[in-house]
Amino acid sequence: MAMAMGSASAAVPATCVRRAPRAGRRAGASVRASPVRRAGTRVVASAGLPIDLTGKRALIAGVADDQGYGWAIAKYLAAAGAEIIVGTWVPAVSIFETSLRRDKLDTSLPGGGNIDVKKVYALDASFCTPEDVPQDVLDNKRYQGAKNPYTVSEVAEQIKQDFGTIDILVHSLANGPEVKNNLLDTSRNGYLSAVSNSSYSFVSLLRYLGPIMNEGGSCISLTYIASERCIPGYGGGMSSAKAALESDTKVLAYEAGRKWGITVNTISAGPLASRAARSIGFIGDMIDYSEFNAPLPRPLYSENVGSVAAFLCSPLASSVTGTCMYVDNGLHAMGLASDSMSLTMNQDKLKEPKSTE
Ligand code: NAD
Repeated sequence: MAMAMGSASAAVPATCVRRAPRAGRRAGASVRASPVRRAGTRVVASAGLPIDLTGKRALIAGVADDQGYGWAIAKYLAAAGAEIIVGTWVPAVSIFETSLRRDKLDTSLPGGGNIDVKKVYALDASFCTPEDVPQDVLDNKRYQGAKNPYTVSEVAEQIKQDFGTIDILVHSLANGPEVKNNLLDTSRNGYLSAVSNSSYSFVSLLRYLGPIMNEGGSCISLTYIASERCIPGYGGGMSSAKAALESDTKVLAYEAGRKWGITVNTISAGPLASRAARSIGFIGDMIDYSEFNAPLPRPLYSENVGSVAAFLCSPLASSVTGTCMYVDNGLHAMGLASDSMSLTMNQDKLKEPKSTE
């Protein structure tokens, strides 16, 4: 089934992922600009220029439920005709496969039909080879019972044996054990772990999967604006990890472009209440902030990222590489929070009657 881009109607399932609207706003927050809530603005798939990924195979690394960006990307790639295989973090594989089997996930595709995940691999992207796995992980029951050898090199080898090649690699995973800590309170291990799990994991995946990627293939990762602007609360070295991921996108675009003829891009996505984001603790505030202050003051859906990913993986974007594409309703372009309380205060000052003395 090929997906088409253009104008016209929103062919997106009603079960899209977004946080439930809040009952009220924080006390004291000024309301200078209210989000424009337009029904039916999720225009992502319709008749028009086709995105046809028929015959392509995509590995999405970092899917464990239907709430995050990885699943939305998998659905859009599938809607465009790609065959989908998934790499799921070892501790989450069993529950993910059970949810899939029991129809607990939203598998509906834009334009109709359901996603068919060809195979789920257990993966821990923080280890390249079996020699990297530390004793405490080897002793962990969930790792001992893993359905397959789970380091990146081993998963790449299994994919080669099972399918031969892939065309699309999506890195949709991140993990910072001290993400709730200010950078100043982050330990060396916590910082290095954030970078290892969230940035080097992409280098590792490309290093081991590049040799089995077909020429003309595409790689995508997911980044966040905290890489280039300070977002207080996104700590533990996660902002540094995203900065590394974005810088690596350029270097890997060059190296993988020359070596295998593939593209490497990253999508800087706006806030979404995924499982990972909810664990950080302030995702609701980030969503409110975006909806009030972005140039397009409206909700961002995981589908908005899914459709851009499908475009970046398609022949339509075959000359786009080394790029960071913002899919955030434009929030990255703003230098002023239009709902800032200080703006209201200054406005009130202006309204004060002038002294007659
Ligand atoms: P998510 O919970 O759906 O995805 C994160 C995934 O990473 C999970 O499936 C988790 O199991 C997996 N994971 C963690 N450590 C792993 C490891 N060592 N090996 C393999 N898998 C591992 O959450 P999400 O927010 O959709 O995150 C996907 C990507 O999007 C991440 O890179 C995240 O930083 C990025 N992103 C998210 C937001 C947001 O607001 N949610 C915004 C911008 C960018």
